[in-house]
Amino acid sequence: MIVVERKSDLHQIVAEHKKGGSKIGFVPTMGALHQGHISLVREARAKAGVVVVSVFVNPIQFNDPKDFETYPATISEDKKLLEQNGCDIVFIPSVAEMYPEVPSEQYDFGTMETVMEGACRPGHFNGVAVVVRRLFDLVQPDLAFFGQKDFQQLAIIKRLVSQLGLPIEIISCPTVREQDGLAMSSRNVRLSAEQRESSARISSALRNAVRGAYGATPDAIVANAVKYINQDKNLDVEYIDIVDQESLEKTAGSDLRNSVICAAVFAGNVRLIDNMLFT
Ligand code: AMP
Repeated sequence: MIVVERKSDLHQIVAEHKKGGSKIGFVPTMGALHQGHISLVREARAKAGVVVVSVFVNPIQFNDPKDFETYPATISEDKKLLEQNGCDIVFIPSVAEMYPEVPSEQYDFGTMETVMEGACRPGHFNGVAVVVRRLFDLVQPDLAFFGQKDFQQLAIIKRLVSQLGLPIEIISCPTVREQDGLAMSSRNVRLSAEQRESSARISSALRNAVRGAYGATPDAIVANAVKYINQDKNLDVEYIDIVDQESLEKTAGSDLRNSVICAAVFAGNVRLIDNMLFT
């Protein structure tokens, strides 16, 4: 596995592989890797000739400076895990390397970026779009792998690629969960033992919702899911919404076949997100 820190080196190495006819698979991450990230790397390994992973904690997608400061970093473990799981090139740029000047790009995703995560974290998706576009320009992947865990991000990246007409296939990978159902997340290490135990309630509520246990209309389902989660004193729902899987518009009627239920929940000051599809 080659470790690269400079954009120019990355561009050159990838260009040589492309000249040789290899398909490039790309997995962008913020590090502190767990089995969720690794499932994306394995999928890339299975589908592409060359696997590129980036590890970059992108400051401009954090609306909460505390969250950025406390974001976990485990770079030597990350490198080991990546090497063991078939990564060919890991790109670990500094902030100055990614942003030699203050970035000024502005993207417009309409209402897709003003609901749910976009409403709670102003500027978040513009920050995501800026870094992903810059990484796409450098890596020029044929395939890029994103987790369904960040459902709204995945929908916005698909929109970005179609808006810009980029020749990149976006592959959506299922959410990897702990045994009790909690979606794996780099932030889970910040949970106390008690908060960690309570947090399993989030996925239980979403599973009940998609199985029909909370009623048939979006309003009833959301109200019951919120009630169930907030019954635990360690948890505090920020939002739960049922939206269309593509447009992210709120589902109005009771036909939920193309909908997804998305949640953001605080466990103390750790913010957890999760979602499940109605299929
Ligand atoms: P992050 O490092 O949080 O920016 O995540 C990098 C990529 O890994 C994103 O595409 C995430 O959606 C994906 N990811 C994070 N957690 C999981 C998980 N539990 N299961 C599947 N994919 C995940």
